[in-house]
Amino acid sequence: MAVESDTQGGKVALVTGGSRGIGRAVVERLAGDGYDIGFCYRSDEQAAALVEKEVHKLGRRVLSRRVDVTRSAEVRDFVTAVEEELGPAAAAVTSAGITRDRPLVTMPDEDWDAVVRTNLDGTYHLCRAVVFPMVRRGGGAVVTLSSVAGVAGNAGQTNYSASKAGIIGFTRSFAKEAGRHGIRANAVAPGFIDTDMTSVLPEKTTKEMRGRIPLKRFGTPGDVASLVSFLVSEEASYITGQVFQVDGGIAL
Ligand code: NAD
Repeated sequence: MAVESDTQGGKVALVTGGSRGIGRAVVERLAGDGYDIGFCYRSDEQAAALVEKEVHKLGRRVLSRRVDVTRSAEVRDFVTAVEEELGPAAAAVTSAGITRDRPLVTMPDEDWDAVVRTNLDGTYHLCRAVVFPMVRRGGGAVVTLSSVAGVAGNAGQTNYSASKAGIIGFTRSFAKEAGRHGIRANAVAPGFIDTDMTSVLPEKTTKEMRGRIPLKRFGTPGDVASLVSFLVSEEASYITGQVFQVDGGIAL
């Protein structure tokens, strides 16, 4: 669905998983920074409509679409639709992600596949779809969402950690490959952030985790969005191939 505002011709940012959590905070932050926004989400049309409204209030144009990031063709069509409707993307952020936590000993193949396909393949699909248009235009900034679990590993998350570590390798290689075309790629690795993804954790676990975090709180989606905002901006024009932890110090 597209919502037009009176303001035309801003820079354009693409965000996957923009209907809630970190992706939603990124959408709203980048709209506040002056970007027109194309975002996709898996299923919640009502949530997406609310996000569109927020972007519209900020005076920016927005196009949202229901897309399964595990499907390459759907992601490609989404990028084409955004570029046709709003203009070429200067920034792309891959926030769509899922968890299916299990000890390896009981991991069903379906849970392994779903997590790797959504998190890692989904990241590849968006980057694959934007890289040629960015090369053609001589630049762009990409931010991928990894996790401290991808940096340090986490018991019970072999599937998730593997996908998030894969995203780091992917992002560094992308940065090396595309730097000559003026494209920067960086990864953000959040710790525990207050979203639907962490709301399913048992109270005992969240209490224990809070105790282990030097800053003694979970992060907010805005804590992550402000770093993403910096990384896609001109202020970060000499930063590429890096992994930035936003974790309250938990990985220290
Ligand atoms: P969330 O569950 O609140 O939101 C996930 C978003 O991804 C939703 O918009 C959903 O529609 C979308 N999505 C999921 N599967 C999809 C699919 N197949 N196709 C299209 N969209 C899909 O999650 P969040 O906490 O906001 O996490 C955002 C990103 O940050 C994820 O990649 C996650 O792994 C990462 N991360 C989160 C935390 C945390 O503590 N919340 C920590 C580290 C990393």
